This record gives sequence, structure tokens and C-alpha cells, in this order.
Amino acid sequence: MIKLPAKDGIRFEPEEVKVKDLDKGDVSINVFCDNALSQDTVCDLLDKYDDVVGKITFFKNDTTYDLDIKIVKVVRSKSKERDLEGINNALEIIDLENYLNNNSLQQALVKTKIVPTECILELTQEMLSAEETTYDGAKFIGDKEQVSSMVRKFYIAEYEKEKSHKGILLFITPIQKPGTAGDGQLWAAERRNCSIFYDGLYSSTVYAHEIAHVLGCEHTFDNDWQEKIEQYNKNINKWKEEIQTFKTEIAEFEQKKEASFMRLEEMKKYPSDPIAIKNIKTLNGNINIYEKKIERRKTSIENRVEAIEQRKLRIEQAKTIKKSNQHVFPIKASTKDNFMDYFQRHSDRKSFFQWQWKAIQFDIKTYYS
Ligand SMILES: [Zn+2]
Repeated sequence: MIKLPAKDGIRFEPEEVKVKDLDKGDVSINVFCDNALSQDTVCDLLDKYDDVVGKITFFKNDTTYDLDIKIVKVVRSKSKERDLEGINNALEIIDLENYLNNNSLQQALVKTKIVPTECILELTQEMLSAEETTYDGAKFIGDKEQVSSMVRKFYIAEYEKEKSHKGILLFITPIQKPGTAGDGQLWAAERRNCSIFYDGLYSSTVYAHEIAHVLGCEHTFDNDWQEKIEQYNKNINKWKEEIQTFKTEIAEFEQKKEASFMRLEEMKKYPSDPIAIKNIKTLNGNINIYEKKIERRKTSIENRVEAIEQRKLRIEQAKTIKKSNQHVFPIKASTKDNFMDYFQRHSDRKSFFQWQWKAIQFDIKTYYS
């Protein structure tokens, strides 16, 4: 017989289990925690002579972590009603707040509140990130991170002119991002938003997965930090070279512009000469073109500078993220049921590891309270 005596508000039902029942198969035992534990508590399992034959550790749970999530429904103007219906239908089926509070994030003692006011972001035309198209009017294309950043920028321009949301932004959209269910931003500079695309709309674990990314959890199988950092350094070097090229080009255009100006002054001396008049027109046109080219190069330089800063910051942050996610499995689907793993079936995911609770709690304390 195994006895399970109550301790410090923790009690078991049943309080005793017969070994022969255990031998027969699964025995289910309910554990109740009648009051919050202010410290980690170890319960002893006893045999019939009251000798200790096992131990169970219960973690302290007297601190909860409040998290506000704001849902932003991202729809296409031309099919706004239908898109909204799709999102609302998915949210009703998933029952998101309930799912996060009872079947996923509560494991890390997180209390989630979803902001009740509806927030809609309409996409009227194609979207451009720095230089590439991320939305072509029907679906998202390109890098998922860029798509999320672009949507965030639009959202900020429309809704956060004065005050920004303190918690997480959850962009939900029935727009397809082919091959991608969702995207969660792991990095502090952009941290606070994640996206659920068409493929993930009805999959509750995708929501938990992406939100946990934002809260500092990396995939259970991602151990390619070295590679990532090398990639970032490569990007930085490439952008630095591009900046040099742009600067050289700007100097060339400035020179050409200057030459055109001088010629223009020359032509102005013959205001009634038809050839001069024609030349003046051409020269003005050229100057205009050079100015535009210079302007464009300047914008490109600004974008590169910003991107370099961001990558430098990431290289710095990689250390913290790596520290929070020290335990890495060699391949995908090594865990049986972890939210941060990739499975054939998303729905198999149902648990967080203890180190992930800690990563989540650290992030909420540091960034969201
Ligand atoms: Zn992921």
C-alpha cells in the first residue's frame, strides 16, 4: 500500500492506493491545493510501515502573473465582413481566454485577461515593408517576421498615437501566409506581438505557442544560436557594405546634379533661344530625377542603420534567451507534448516545462507589469 498524507494544504484523493491496483494499470489520483503555497513543498509517499518510499515536489504558487492581451483583428477591406466573421467564429470555438487560463498559460501561473474592446485593422491595399511587398492584396508573402512587423507598424500608426498597450498584441487574421500558422516575436526590441495566420486560426495550441514565444520561450529543438548569431553578423556586414555603396552613389548623383545646375545657369542666359528653352526643361527634369535618387538612397541608408542596430541588439539578447532556454532537444517532436515543440498534429501539445514557466514569468515581470 502507498499512503499519500496531506501536507500544508495539499491533499490527495484517494489518500491510499493498493499496490495490486497499481499493478493492474493506471490509477488516477486527484491532487488538491487548498491554499496557495508560499514555498516549494515536498510531500512524502509512505508505505504501510510509514517509511518514505517516494517524494513529490509542489512548486510555490502564491504569486500570479497578470498578462493583458489585446486582440487586433486584421482584415481585408474588400472582404471585411467575411473576414471578421471568420475570426470571430474561430475565437468562439477556441474560447481563447478560457483556454489560456485553464489549459495552457496557467501552468506558469499566468492570469490572462483579454481586452474586451474590439480592435480592427483594415488592409486596404498592398503593404510594403522597407523595400519588399509583404501583402499583395490577397495573401501575405515574404518573411513572416517582416509581415508581423509591418502589421505592427500599421497598428501603431492607427491606434497608438497617444498611448500604447502594455501587454501583448495578438494579431489574428484569416489572411493566408502560405506554410505558416503563426509568428511570435522572441526579441525584446519587437517583443509584444504575435500573429495567427489562416493556417493557425482554429488551432488553440498555436495561440499558446506564439504567445509563449513572445514571453521568452524558444522552440524545444532550436539550438542553432551560433548559426543565428553568425547570420546576424553576416547581415550586419552586408548592410554596412551596402551603406558604403549608397554613399558613393549619393556623391555621384550630387555631382551630376551640381553639373546640371551649372549648365542650367548657363542656359538661362539665353531666355529666348528655343534650344536653350528645351535644354532648361531637360535639365530641370534631370535634377529632379537626381534628387529623387538621392532621397531614395538616403532612406535605404536609414533602413540599413536601423536594421544593423536591431541585429546588434539581438546578438546581445540571444544570451538572455539562451539562458532562459537551456534545455534543448536534438530534433523536432522529441518531447511528448510540449507547447514549444513541432508535432505533426498541433493538438498533441499540452504542457510547458518548468524552465519555460520561469522564462514566461521573468518576461511578464520584466516587460509587462
Ligand atoms: Zn514557433
